[in-house]
Amino acid sequence: PEAITVGELANRMAERVADVVKALMQNGMMVTQNQTIDADTAELIVEDFGHHVVRVSDADVEQVIESADDKPEDLVNRPPVITVMGHVDHGKTSLLDAIRNAKVVSGEAGGITQHIGAYQVQTEGGQLLTFLDTPGHAAFTSMRSRGAQVTDIVVLVVAADDAVMPQTVEAINHAKAAKVPMIVAINKIDKPEANPTKVRTDLLQHEVVVEQMSGDVQDVEVSAHTGDGLDDLLEAIALQAELLELKANPDRAAQGAVIEAQLDVGRGPVATVLIQNGTLHQGDIFVVGEQYGKVRALVNDKGDRVKEAGPSVPVEVLGLNGTPEAGDVLNVVSTEAQAREIAEYRAQAAKDKRAAAGAATTLEQLMQRA
Ligand code: GDP
Ligand code: MG
Repeated sequence: PEAITVGELANRMAERVADVVKALMQNGMMVTQNQTIDADTAELIVEDFGHHVVRVSDADVEQVIESADDKPEDLVNRPPVITVMGHVDHGKTSLLDAIRNAKVVSGEAGGITQHIGAYQVQTEGGQLLTFLDTPGHAAFTSMRSRGAQVTDIVVLVVAADDAVMPQTVEAINHAKAAKVPMIVAINKIDKPEANPTKVRTDLLQHEVVVEQMSGDVQDVEVSAHTGDGLDDLLEAIALQAELLELKANPDRAAQGAVIEAQLDVGRGPVATVLIQNGTLHQGDIFVVGEQYGKVRALVNDKGDRVKEAGPSVPVEVLGLNGTPEAGDVLNVVSTEAQAREIAEYRAQAAKDKRAAAGAATTLEQLMQRA
């Protein structure tokens, strides 16, 4: 349950602590400045003082989302979001680049491909795929720890000349913990010493049984260097996506996750947001982590200005009041006051938490010294 200290309550109402303590006493509660009271009691007191009650919490934000609960008939297919993982030097970056370069029409946006942390490609079969361009387990876990589950499919890259290595196992564990299906890309197949069979048998020991071993995890031999197998990989992803039946409702207030964010000298705070549900429009008011704003401009992965972005689309969002963190969730809300209120509530909650953690450490240090 939510709670607030008497001191903080007085502070927020701009009333004297003594007066708040007195009011609480009149309501039968004997408390001091640093004691906490529950939200219901606080609300009574606030009304006693003739103030207006605005209760804001993450639960409220969830309600905002849930109140727009999607009806089955409003749902449409959305592209899958793919993260590439694997051991260092097994070719994650090369593979992401190869897919991007093979699939981005040259001459588009003057041939310059903007790096915004994610990009979309289209398969031969016409299926759109969204790749998170931030390979690395740290990004995956930190996002997950912040509550953002952005990945639908993990592509596990294993070099055919090196087979299963420690970070391969780590990636398998991440995917399993997140319950995200995997597709194995056996890379560097162009190398003379490539041994894809060893990769498949190694994987067995980690309970990853690929199709070639009569399992149900798709495996595709690829070369990021020659481009061999890239289309097969994309088709495998498209097939997996079909099985997942990924849906979203484009006709509702947007929800998304921050992939990366930075303070841009010319443009101010900029966040790359992966839209997870709904559609984000220019002019929308939103809260994102401890920040809020109004969409001033949206820029897609090709560097083009766009008016809106729907489910599974990555876009750069301009118009933030501060820089959010990767993994922060963006929600569109109705009013700027609401956005500010939620952002401030979260900032305060985070501050309280840090203070509490700090106090605990100090106490621990004191005890150790004693
Ligand atoms: P990452 O650490 O997983 O991102 O791996 P990189 O993409 O940086 O690749 C590591 C090294 O392997 C680089 O020298 C790449 O040029 C090389 N490499 C990546 N893919 C292939 C491939 O398909 N064939 C060959 N021969 N080399 C590759
Ligand atoms: Mg790399």
